[in-house]
Amino acid sequence: MEKPSAAAHPELPKWLWVVNFTGAVLMMVALPPFCYYMWNCIVESGGALVSPVGLFAKIPAPTLTSVEIFFGWFFLHVILQIAAPGKTAYGLPLPDGGRLAYKMNGLFSFWFSIAVAVGVVYFGFLSPGVLYDQFGPLLTTVNIFTFVFSFYLYWLGKTSPTPERTTRNVIYDYFMGMALNPRIGSFDLKLFCEARPGLIGWVLINFSMAAKQYQLHHTVTVPMILVCAFHFLYVADYYFNEDAVLTTWDIKYENFGWMLCWGDLVWVPFTYTIQALYLVNHTHELPGWGIAGIVALNMTGYAIFRLTNIQKHRFRNDPTRLVWGKKPEYLTTTTGSLLLTSGWWGIARHLNYFGDLMMGLAWCLPTLFDHPLTYFYIVYFTILLVHRERRDNNFCRTKYGADWDRYCAKVRWRIIPGIY
Ligand code: NDP
Repeated sequence: MEKPSAAAHPELPKWLWVVNFTGAVLMMVALPPFCYYMWNCIVESGGALVSPVGLFAKIPAPTLTSVEIFFGWFFLHVILQIAAPGKTAYGLPLPDGGRLAYKMNGLFSFWFSIAVAVGVVYFGFLSPGVLYDQFGPLLTTVNIFTFVFSFYLYWLGKTSPTPERTTRNVIYDYFMGMALNPRIGSFDLKLFCEARPGLIGWVLINFSMAAKQYQLHHTVTVPMILVCAFHFLYVADYYFNEDAVLTTWDIKYENFGWMLCWGDLVWVPFTYTIQALYLVNHTHELPGWGIAGIVALNMTGYAIFRLTNIQKHRFRNDPTRLVWGKKPEYLTTTTGSLLLTSGWWGIARHLNYFGDLMMGLAWCLPTLFDHPLTYFYIVYFTILLVHRERRDNNFCRTKYGADWDRYCAKVRWRIIPGIY
């Protein structure tokens, strides 16, 4: 396997190394307060942007309930990861030629853990709106956990006989991680954090927001239902196609350190739920044409996203399989890898990102247009995917050389055909 991430490379030009290092520090310093800021704007000012002065004084300490919920949820998923039924899938070949085995029991864990959460509420152990009530303390609890856990990951990588892509800069290595696939026995920490407590927690936080809206206003509005349903579909879809995660960038190439760990456990569940959080106390409804338009946007985006991703996944597993009913067209590279140039992959180099962006916009629209904060997700996600595409492009150019240029000449558009 090539070394893909120039970001973690010690022989980078000095200026680029400084930029990367500064970015890493800024992210660790600024992103956690930013999560509190968004939460605070919504619960204290109804979504209006307010001065962040005095924010730190408002950061809540963990509560016993938030600690119990987080660790209860986390260890429920640890147990499910170990014990739940599921087939074994194999990751892409590693530099030594071996392939790691992964237990693909996410779909079972998804339904089972949601059923457990429903049971906990049904039998009165927790109130259905508890994740709204405990949002701030939970955010603190999980933040503390991820910062500490990332030290453990750092240590695990450092003591591993084969630390991967390290820079010998403690802060940067803590941020990016020291190992590609840190494991305890056969328990894969990266896949677990990427795919379990945070991802399903996102769905559960949304449900709790809907319950809170009902508790406070005796209604669950259509915008709330749309947001919850869209997010539920997105996460459930992930589990229906669980194997596909093994060929994504994060699993193939990204070390597991603070960046991924914090992103998986804090960023995803606590910022992707911002629309539902906002809707708790905004009980507007939508006209029929608005609902139809938003549903159409989401489902079109979903279809593009899903079909594109699955097409590449199937092609990589079986290059003879028909693409849109015809023999696939592809480029054979000198590395031996094939690059698909027909079907969805003949339209743009990352049409999957375009579908994802369409869905992202559909998730924001139900909040209407009173506050820019509720459009945070689509703005952030556009930046993320444009940056990700650039990074992937650089990586592929390094990996495939002139073959990649041939591919780009054939498939001209990066993300949106005719525009970008
Ligand atoms: P991709 O699944 O698009 O994978 C990119 C890799 O695919 C390349 O590095 C290359 O790897 C291979 N590839 C590129 N072009 C071709 C081709 N024509 N034929 C065959 N293989 C090709 O990217 P990501 O892993 O970034 O994204 C996966 C999905 O996850 C996307 O839908 C994205 O929108 C979504 N996503 C969602 C996020 C969220 O927070 N909701 C965050 C990030 C991503 P190689 O050749 O080395 O195999």
